[in-house]
Amino acid sequence: MEMFIDPHIHVVSRTTDDYEAMRKAGIVAIIEPAFWLGQPRTEVGSFKDYFSTLVGWERFRAKQFGIVHYCTMGLNSKEANNVPLAEEVMELLPLYVGKEGVVAIGEIGYDDQTEAEDRFYRLQLELAKEVNLPVLIHTPHRDKKKGTCRSMDVSEEHGLPPSMVIVDHNNEETVKEVLDRGYWAAFTIYPHTKMGSERMAEIVKHYGPERIIVDSAADWGISDPLAVPKTAALMRKMGIPEEHIRMTCYQNALTAYSQSGQMDEMDWLKPEPIDQRERQFGNSVLRGGQTPRVEGSDIVEN
Ligand SMILES: [Zn+2]
Repeated sequence: MEMFIDPHIHVVSRTTDDYEAMRKAGIVAIIEPAFWLGQPRTEVGSFKDYFSTLVGWERFRAKQFGIVHYCTMGLNSKEANNVPLAEEVMELLPLYVGKEGVVAIGEIGYDDQTEAEDRFYRLQLELAKEVNLPVLIHTPHRDKKKGTCRSMDVSEEHGLPPSMVIVDHNNEETVKEVLDRGYWAAFTIYPHTKMGSERMAEIVKHYGPERIIVDSAADWGISDPLAVPKTAALMRKMGIPEEHIRMTCYQNALTAYSQSGQMDEMDWLKPEPIDQRERQFGNSVLRGGQTPRVEGSDIVEN
């Protein structure tokens, strides 16, 4: 069966039906970047619990559906604008960046391109260097071209090699420069909008598969957790070679993020068996009377 990685999806906002559909469509591994939740947090404790969820419960929950879950840690650009809170989050981050399954610092960068965003972006680039993790850059939706260039300029100012930096939310306007400068160029496929599967396929046709990464960025908004497999299917229909599909929808994300030392193909090629009877903090994904999915005949119920 064809395998996919969705290297940018906010699964805390998604349902178990999504997980089932994703696995059925061939998604074997996902990366969940720390981001904002649609409304601003008011306490550092909310960040702490959210970060703990990313390395704890959500990782466990994904596993119950046969998907290996990784995450990135960071202070998103929107909430960087609450400076006193952002300072507290910066003190918290070092406690989380070394946890199992953390594959990058991200998603960080610019939103409105304010002074505070710039300050906390730079601090987190320094943190990434210190702990030797890749960086996932969120590029702004407004004034994208300028914001994307600036993200790369500042990253270079701090001495990060482009091979350690994934620039996300690209489009036709930004892709050339991002690739020319040696960065990973990720694309978020939003249904019916900005960057759809067809435009993605055209970009791969034009630029080839080198360092291009497809993701869904599915979250609490209108988005599609199957964007990666659907885009792969469309690329196939449009005559894009199999190897190019494999690179953009699987291999490039693996190569980029395995630089963290935290992501390994063996994690899903030789997975632990699914056992939905398992519990995390006393909770399972099952509700009363449901039949657990248990894989492997060597498992004995006791
Ligand atoms: Zn995101």
